[in-house]
Amino acid sequence: MASKYTPGKFDLRVKRSRAGLGLYAFSPIKKGQCVIEYTGKVLTKEEDESSSSLYLFLVNKHKTIDGAARSNKARYINHSCRPNCEITIYGARVWVMAKRAIKPGDELSYDYDKEYFNEYIKPRGCRCLKCQPI
Ligand SMILES: [Zn+2]
Repeated sequence: MASKYTPGKFDLRVKRSRAGLGLYAFSPIKKGQCVIEYTGKVLTKEEDESSSSLYLFLVNKHKTIDGAARSNKARYINHSCRPNCEITIYGARVWVMAKRAIKPGDELSYDYDKEYFNEYIKPRGCRCLKCQPI
């Protein structure tokens, strides 16, 4: 049986969204399914402290990864204050899990941590559907 943390074979595509590029599901995804792993280069403590990458992910106290590589499709997932995905750290790896059922055509989103939100999103205004419904 596949592990809970094995990403499903979903059709995920990078597309233009209201907040720049975004990652969209083109397959139905059930609540609780593993959507994708957030991957990247594991940084040394020195690299972590000097990095200006916007794609740093603090996995735990001892591990930070830099997900800036384009091969890391999860880097295109935008923040939402009412997200359809959530992050789970398991086995010192970063997993994007479906927080609710996702329909083909839906943009994937998760709630970035408060620190990131306050530093990078709040100043220019959050463009998620909850904050700026059309
Ligand atoms: Zn928002």
